[in-house]
Amino acid sequence: MNFTFHGVRGSIPSPGPKTVKYGGNTTCIEVRGNNNEIIILDAGTGIFPLAQSLLAELPVICHILISHTHWDHIQGLPFFTPLFIPGNKITIHGATDPIGQRDVSEVLNRQMEYAYFPIREAELNANIEYVSLKDRQTFDIGSVKVETMLMNHPALNYGYKVSCGGKSLFFTGDHEWPYNIYEPDDEEYDDFEEQIQLRRKETIDFIRGVDALIVDTSYTDEEYPAKKGWGHGTFSTSIAVAREAGVKHCFFTHHEPTRSDEHLESVFREALEKNADGRITNEPEFHLAQEGVKFDLCLANLHSCRHRV
Ligand SMILES: [Zn+2]
Ligand SMILES: [Zn+2]
Repeated sequence: MNFTFHGVRGSIPSPGPKTVKYGGNTTCIEVRGNNNEIIILDAGTGIFPLAQSLLAELPVICHILISHTHWDHIQGLPFFTPLFIPGNKITIHGATDPIGQRDVSEVLNRQMEYAYFPIREAELNANIEYVSLKDRQTFDIGSVKVETMLMNHPALNYGYKVSCGGKSLFFTGDHEWPYNIYEPDDEEYDDFEEQIQLRRKETIDFIRGVDALIVDTSYTDEEYPAKKGWGHGTFSTSIAVAREAGVKHCFFTHHEPTRSDEHLESVFREALEKNADGRITNEPEFHLAQEGVKFDLCLANLHSCRHRV
């Protein structure tokens, strides 16, 4: 199994000379199973360059797993060229919105409404199927096993564990580690603390031992107080969970859109220095997710395939 980053940016695309190295496209990760199953995690603008490379291997049979329907995770979907080509089979998986009771089938339909897009969903020529997922659901895509886990975000957001041939990855989608909304002297504080610690333990147990954790790491500790409750993680929270869950490789992603390549590398270095702990054995390897970089879980190596995007 291997995966390739096609979009690593959070919130809004951020192209330009300052983001050339890590890339400006929003979230999209291509996963390939051992039998070359194609699984696409999220459909941010990074799905467009991926679509171009898939045209070389028609017919495309693929599964798109949507973490949640905020724009930066779906806005590339109407531009996923294989949707327009007869003979392709595309299955789109995602949650049902508990408030509006709208399921994932509406994601494409609504994005392609007349006011927003010139082509109607009904005119797409591929065979398209929609699957509504539940929390802690397990299903197979060929030789690949997928498991869902509800994460903490101001939208229903599933993290996905993807396993194949004894290797595994976990992708959080957007996620903020829950915090106590009460003050320590409030009556409700202790009960709430117990609940969030329990939830944290469940999440870490679910992630435990994966070969690669791909985790929302939008902010620095200094930036976080102004963004608390927006549903995103920090370098420090990501480092802590990667250690606690005993993962082998940890990829920080959902890079803050105003962050230049240079700034991204400097906050990455500072976070590793600040959180350095010589007592830790089996320290995970930490990486910045980078557009066009492929990671082979069997060989545990990284290589750049930017020519593909
Ligand atoms: Zn996002
Ligand atoms: Zn989001």
